[in-house]
Amino acid sequence: FGALEAFDPEIAGVLVSELDRLRGGLQLIASENMSSPAVLTSLGSTLSNKYAEGYPGRRYYGGCSEVDKAESLAIERAKALFEADHANVQPHSGASANQAVYGAFMSPGDTILAMSLPHGGHLTHGTKMSFSGKWFNAVHYGVDKDTEDIDYDEVERLAKEHKPKVILAGGSAIPRLIDFEFFRRVADEIGAIFWVDAAHFIGLVAGKAIPSPVPHADVVSFTTHKVLRGPRSGAIVCKAEHQAAIDKAVFPMMQGGPQMHTIAAKATNFKECATPEYQAYAKQVIANAKVLAETLGEKGIRPTTGGTDTHLSLHDLQQVLVTGADAEARCDAAGITLNKNAIPFDPQKPNIASGIRVGTPCVTTQGMGEDEMRTIGGLIARAVVDGDADPEHAVSKEVRAEVTDLVTRFPAYQR
Ligand code: PLP
Repeated sequence: FGALEAFDPEIAGVLVSELDRLRGGLQLIASENMSSPAVLTSLGSTLSNKYAEGYPGRRYYGGCSEVDKAESLAIERAKALFEADHANVQPHSGASANQAVYGAFMSPGDTILAMSLPHGGHLTHGTKMSFSGKWFNAVHYGVDKDTEDIDYDEVERLAKEHKPKVILAGGSAIPRLIDFEFFRRVADEIGAIFWVDAAHFIGLVAGKAIPSPVPHADVVSFTTHKVLRGPRSGAIVCKAEHQAAIDKAVFPMMQGGPQMHTIAAKATNFKECATPEYQAYAKQVIANAKVLAETLGEKGIRPTTGGTDTHLSLHDLQQVLVTGADAEARCDAAGITLNKNAIPFDPQKPNIASGIRVGTPCVTTQGMGEDEMRTIGGLIARAVVDGDADPEHAVSKEVRAEVTDLVTRFPAYQR
């Protein structure tokens, strides 16, 4: 850090002030986490210099003996952790991993059946703004109006009607467990590939806190930086019969040189995931999310689907007459970072939204438990209902003082 500080104090200053921001507030974005110093060490290492196109033992560059060891460890650890036939640890991100899955199984114009974005899916699941909706024919299922959970009848109906080549389960705002056996059965009935995008919940699977999609799906793509708590990146596990197609789709079809420093960090993260401490963390993430969802519900900030089975909950603000955008701004002013989110059948535009999404990976990593979740639920409710986007407003200041007290007792990245 000394070298950076001496040469580029502006960027060194950003690193320090971002750490201060992380430490100074409550981080409740469901897709974020705080990876360990061990993981961060590889990210800032000389492995970043190395070109290694290809795979271990089959590279297009010399000098790969050492990075081969890192990638082989990452592959073996991912396979053991997820009990998977094959792992590809090269995708640069969740979107890159998904692009490779399309590349492996679909040609332009082919049909995919996936969850719609406004009901909890992801941009890469066939939205018109993304390559996935431009190059492929996407048919979307949503949630049931009453249960607000996946409309399984609609999935089956659309699958039989459109005969998609691939059926995709998973998304970015799904609080409940997904019935993988159901999707497998439907995919088998029409001869489709069953793909799970487990980006959000793979950390809970790694920690054995929820059932795994791996035995049921042909292919599972995921990010490594969310609940999983690894570096910002992606990965894919699949059945042995798809190994060649997935590997060819990641490289050379979609990517060039792999990021070996990130792959080394993924290996370390997978090792962390296999520890009893990690399993305890994964279970606590869910216990915390349940209490946070319930507490907010008691304050009139209704959890969709009535609660959560995972690390996140989605809340409908219509009863308290606040928009998602205002809630996000009010929380921000009070030292609470979360995001506005569309709720199913949202009457608002996506950039305003009627909901917020909250997640517990960061606060659980900091060591907080159910008692603190009750406190946090109360603080969010005060900021959202009585607060203001002005940090100088009395409620913003009061809530911020309590946030400071909490994060001082549970510091992120201990000094
Ligand atoms: N898939 C899902 C379900 C996600 O939630 C996300 C990210 O939010 C992605 C894919 C994309 O991951 P990345 O941002 O690493 O490209």
